[in-house]
Amino acid sequence: TQIMSRGLPKQKPIEGVKQVIVVASGKGGVGKSTTAVNDSSKAIGLLDVDVYGPSIPKMMNLKGNPELSQNNLMRPLLNYGIACMSMGFLVEDTTPVVWRGLMVMSAVEKLLRQVDWGQLDYLVVDMPPGTGDMQLSVSQNIPISGAVIVSTPQDIALIDAHKGAEMFRKVHVPVLGLVQNMSVFQCPKCKHKTHIFGADGARKLAQTLDLDVLGDIPLHPSIRETSDTGQPVVFSQPDSDEAKAYLRIATEVV
Ligand code: ADP
Repeated sequence: TQIMSRGLPKQKPIEGVKQVIVVASGKGGVGKSTTAVNDSSKAIGLLDVDVYGPSIPKMMNLKGNPELSQNNLMRPLLNYGIACMSMGFLVEDTTPVVWRGLMVMSAVEKLLRQVDWGQLDYLVVDMPPGTGDMQLSVSQNIPISGAVIVSTPQDIALIDAHKGAEMFRKVHVPVLGLVQNMSVFQCPKCKHKTHIFGADGARKLAQTLDLDVLGDIPLHPSIRETSDTGQPVVFSQPDSDEAKAYLRIATEVV
């Protein structure tokens, strides 16, 4: 569009990082961060650029202030062998970030440029939900190898996922595919399967947009519990079906 093609900032790679994969969603609460965390198992680096609602500290059981390296770059915090950086390391848990767009942008700039990642083959970036300034500025500032879009099969989430996919296409970021999350819940007692948010909405959207479905993650209490306790299912229960569903995505993506 006109606004986007005017004065595009020059893309500059992140020092030491070979490839960047972003995990995005149109809407919040659909499982984007959970997917990013579980997909990062092969990536070694995880960057949370959700300044208003950082989830990575809790999901990766990390807190504290990053140390500075000799050249004044922030050192990522480490858990499960994954180097992580998040706005949540720089502010208290309960302190809201009450900032206008420009300040958020400069914080994102710091998270993109002032972290000492060492050498990484892949960095997974957990984007904030939506298709606004922040998403655009990240997409335009760094070269992105691909975007993974997470959605539940529900119309209200799919409409926003569609917009997300179109946004990446407009800024020439390849969309690697969709992840359908929370499509099915199986009763642990009677084994009956219920499609709480619909059965195959993301699959249909993938067809419409000519995209691959990278994975289909069931709605499962252990995914929620392991996220809440900072022990993502791919690390804490790697042999479970849930972990395998995520690992399949990670294999396709990185
Ligand atoms: P988003 O990043 O899109 O806002 P989150 O990844 O934070 O969403 O997920 C929202 C909530 O749903 C979290 O509490 C998370 O633990 C839970 N959740 C995500 N995916 C699943 C799933 N497949 N099964 C059960 N709970 C899930």
